[in-house]
Amino acid sequence: MELRITDVHVHIQPWDMLLPGARARMGHRRADFADLERMMNDPGEVLRRMDAAGVARIGVINYVSPSLMGFTEDVNPWVAELARHAPDRMIAFGGVDVRAPEPGEAVERLRDMGVRAIKLHPPHQEFAANAYRHDLPRLAEVYGRAEELGLPIMVHTGTSIFPGARNVYADPLPLDDLGVDFPNLVVILAHLGRPLWAEASFFLLRRHPNFWGDVSGIPPRGLLRYFPRLVEVADKLLWGTDWPGPMVPGLAENLQAFLALDLPEEVRRKLLQDNPDRLFGPAPAI
Ligand SMILES: [Zn+2]
Repeated sequence: MELRITDVHVHIQPWDMLLPGARARMGHRRADFADLERMMNDPGEVLRRMDAAGVARIGVINYVSPSLMGFTEDVNPWVAELARHAPDRMIAFGGVDVRAPEPGEAVERLRDMGVRAIKLHPPHQEFAANAYRHDLPRLAEVYGRAEELGLPIMVHTGTSIFPGARNVYADPLPLDDLGVDFPNLVVILAHLGRPLWAEASFFLLRRHPNFWGDVSGIPPRGLLRYFPRLVEVADKLLWGTDWPGPMVPGLAENLQAFLALDLPEEVRRKLLQDNPDRLFGPAPAI
C-alpha cells in the first residue's frame, strides 16, 4: 500500500533550552542523544530521517514549560522557522503560557507566525485543562480564540515521568468541559490517556464530535491491549510516535510495529493517512 503517512506527534524541539533534570530524563538510555541533539537544529536531517522511515509529514510538537522543562515562548518562532523549511511536510505546533495576561492575543500571534496548531501540556504547565471554570478564567480566551481561528489544540493526556511533572493534571476527563463549552474547538487527546485513562479517552472521543486522539507514546505492540475498542473510533484517531521522547525507539521501528498489528487495512489507512488529511489537508507524496 502506498500511503502518504503523517506522524502527528514528533518532538523536534530546541533541546538547548532543556533544564538539567529534564535533559537527563530525555537522554536516559539514549545512546544517540548527541546525534538527536544535532538533528534538532538541522531540518535537512529531520527530513532525511522521515524519508528513511517512509513518513511524508510530521506534526512538530512544541509547548511552553519554562519552570519544568525549560521551554519558553521562544519555542514558537523556533518551530515556525523550522517548518518553513518544508511547509508541506511539517505542521508546526506551538505553545501558550496559560498564565500570561492576554493569552488570547498569544494564540493570534501564533497563527500569524505560521503555527498551525497548539500543544498544551497540563502536567508540565501545572494547570487543569478546565481551570477557566475555577481559578484561571483567562484560559477561556485561549480556547475561544483557537476555536474562532480554527486552530486545533492538542492536549497531553496521561502520566509523565519528567522531574516535577504534576500527574494530578494528567487525567483527560477535565477536557469534557471543553467539549461542552467550546463545541467547535478541535481537541486532540495526545496519548489517549496512557497508561491509566483509556476508558475516559474512549468516552470523550465518542461524546464530542470535534475530539480526536493520537496513539503516540503507546508502544504499538501493546496498543490493542491498552485500547481494545480502537476500531470503533477509528475515524477519530491519528497515528503518532512521540519520538524521540523517552522509550520511543524510532519512527521506522514504531511504524513497522504498528503495521504489524492485527487491524483491518482500512483502519490502518485511516490513522496513517485519511484522518490526518481530513484534519490538516493532504500530506504530500514522497
Ligand atoms: Zn509528546
